Amino acid sequence: MKGNIGVTSDNIFPIIKKFLYSDHEIFLRELVSNAVDATQKLKTLASVGEFKGELGDLTVRVSVNKKKKTITVTDRGIGMTADEIEKYINQIAFSGAEEFLDKYKDDANAIIGHFGLGFYSAFMVSKEVEIQTLSFKEGSKAARWVCDGNPEYQLDEMDKAERGTSIVLHIDDDNKDFLEEAKITELLTKYCKFLPIPVAFGKKKEWKDGKDVETDEDNIINDTTPAWTRKPSELKEEDYNKFYRDLYPMSEDPLFSIHLNVDYPFHLTGILYFPKVKNNIELQRNKIQLYCNQVFVTDAVEGIVPDFLTLLHGVIDSPDIPLNVSRSYLQSDSNVKKISSHITKKVADRLQEIFKNDRAQFEAKWDSLRLFIIYGMLTDEKFYERAEKFVLFKNTEQKCFTFEEYKTLIKENQTDKEGSLIYLYANDAENQHSYIEAARKKGYDVLLMDGQLDIHWVSQLEQKFEKSRFVRVDSDIVERLIRKTDDPQHQLTESQRQALSALFETQLPALDKIEFSVSLEQMTPDAPPLVITQSEFMRRMKEMSATQGGGMMSFYGELPDNYTLSVNTAHPLIEKLLHDEEQICAEKVAPIESEIKLLSERVEALKAAHKGKKEEEIPQAEKEELTTLEKQQTEAKQRQKEVITQFAVSQPSVRQLIDLALLSTNLLKGEALSRFVKRSVETML
Ligand code: ADP
Repeated sequence: MKGNIGVTSDNIFPIIKKFLYSDHEIFLRELVSNAVDATQKLKTLASVGEFKGELGDLTVRVSVNKKKKTITVTDRGIGMTADEIEKYINQIAFSGAEEFLDKYKDDANAIIGHFGLGFYSAFMVSKEVEIQTLSFKEGSKAARWVCDGNPEYQLDEMDKAERGTSIVLHIDDDNKDFLEEAKITELLTKYCKFLPIPVAFGKKKEWKDGKDVETDEDNIINDTTPAWTRKPSELKEEDYNKFYRDLYPMSEDPLFSIHLNVDYPFHLTGILYFPKVKNNIELQRNKIQLYCNQVFVTDAVEGIVPDFLTLLHGVIDSPDIPLNVSRSYLQSDSNVKKISSHITKKVADRLQEIFKNDRAQFEAKWDSLRLFIIYGMLTDEKFYERAEKFVLFKNTEQKCFTFEEYKTLIKENQTDKEGSLIYLYANDAENQHSYIEAARKKGYDVLLMDGQLDIHWVSQLEQKFEKSRFVRVDSDIVERLIRKTDDPQHQLTESQRQALSALFETQLPALDKIEFSVSLEQMTPDAPPLVITQSEFMRRMKEMSATQGGGMMSFYGELPDNYTLSVNTAHPLIEKLLHDEEQICAEKVAPIESEIKLLSERVEALKAAHKGKKEEEIPQAEKEELTTLEKQQTEAKQRQKEVITQFAVSQPSVRQLIDLALLSTNLLKGEALSRFVKRSVETML
């Protein structure tokens, strides 16, 4: 018998062959899962007594005939009568395919794993497709359907004794790759590894007399009862770890697992694993595999689980995730939303449970967990609320605290005069060693915030915590990290201050994109003579711009790095320098200073007299005098600077002190570093 398939366009096969070109391989998944479905239907019928015959061997078999250029998928399931072929293949399957094409013409790659193509996908790789089938129904006649890709098909009776269906694909020349045994093995392993009915691809091979020899044993490619389909009570940690290795053969054992099992309001099973994390988000991603009734769909689960959960590994299996829709649609699907928040909750519950029951284990694994948990807190408000109870702060001494515990710890000693709680932190324990030491010596605790997302986490916590600020240990001199009283009054005179500032200003090195400003500070005599700091605000803006970029942020990124060079006026070395400076320079500087003083008095007087007057009301002579005075002022200051510079140059300790400060901040590099080393050696001669 001949017939016409009800498709509107004359020949849509060429279109579908081009379309989804890169994903031709899904045809095998579709055909094998049809075979598995037909087999399971038969098992169901047998279990309710509607099928009374022998089930026999139900293995689904895949075979390749390279000579005939065919791939055959055979099952011993329910089969089809000729009428059923008419109905299911000619009408339903094809209309489904047509609808599919219509819907996704422009958006093919957006569909998850290209579900919904079904049987029709066979034509993506075949020039002719054949169905040979015998229904389980008593008295059925076997039927053979052939179609070469035109809307025309041939449907006849045939001789076939075995119940079930064989789909024979006559592979077209463009798709010869699929006739390679290795290719089929690869696809079966990818898509069919956990199907619930045994799938055989040829026979097992044995190494005998220097070559591979086929045995009688079927080469079963799947595990029909993977761990996630079993009851959690039947499984031990070792079983979960073994399954993890099945999924990711090259990976280290995971930290722990979560078995998901939901019946209502949606169906979902699966096992998620916390992997041992490297401190890099990108390496982690895209390891969760999505299944639909044990058929592999995709390992790109964005949009289905919250972004931070894509850092987990494992399997999610749900028939309730709509798979024949585009990704943008997925996120708004109500089932997907429920699934996503369910998984988030489960993950948080599991973490909370481990934290509660085995805090030591939780702390031991903290370094691997923290990136994941912090990512979750930053991107998912609900998760933040749950995580607040178990997330840990780790300080520079490797001790762990909950938020509450830490607050209690620092409350007493780290509250500033405005009543704000100051959280001190370092992001590089090595490089900031001296600052950390200084803070600890003052009785402060210092957190270690050296993770990939910690810049953002710090900003988040500042917004969440009441009256609290995070201050990096090197953002100010230790006296001012936590301001408990007003700054002490300076004991130096104005001219001493000027002389001392100028002494260091004249000797600051010229570094690319780095600017320094000198500030005089009354620290303790045992604090370092010079300390370099970088303000919290500017540094954060720059860090943010480095990770985000764009707009206002890139403006900050372009600015030079600003550092403050704090001169400890209480340090004996600084006191000595100031003393020497006064001794040697006073004679020359004093007259210049009084000259400058006179000049500025006159300038001020003139400016005061001009105040409120219009430009044309000011006598020309006075205007000229003002210009001259200002010029003289600049010139006098220049002379003063020269005197001080001369002195500074004659004091190698000025450069030496600056270099030491740079060195301890990791800013002394290149030629400046070489010069420092040379100078240091010379002083030892
Ligand atoms: P779907 O599987 O999504 O229903 P398909 O296009 O893959 O769509 O298949 C259409 C129909 O053809 C199936 O619903 C089933 O009734 C029938 N069918 C396909 N393959 C087989 C098979 N191997 N054995 C029995 N029936 C089959």
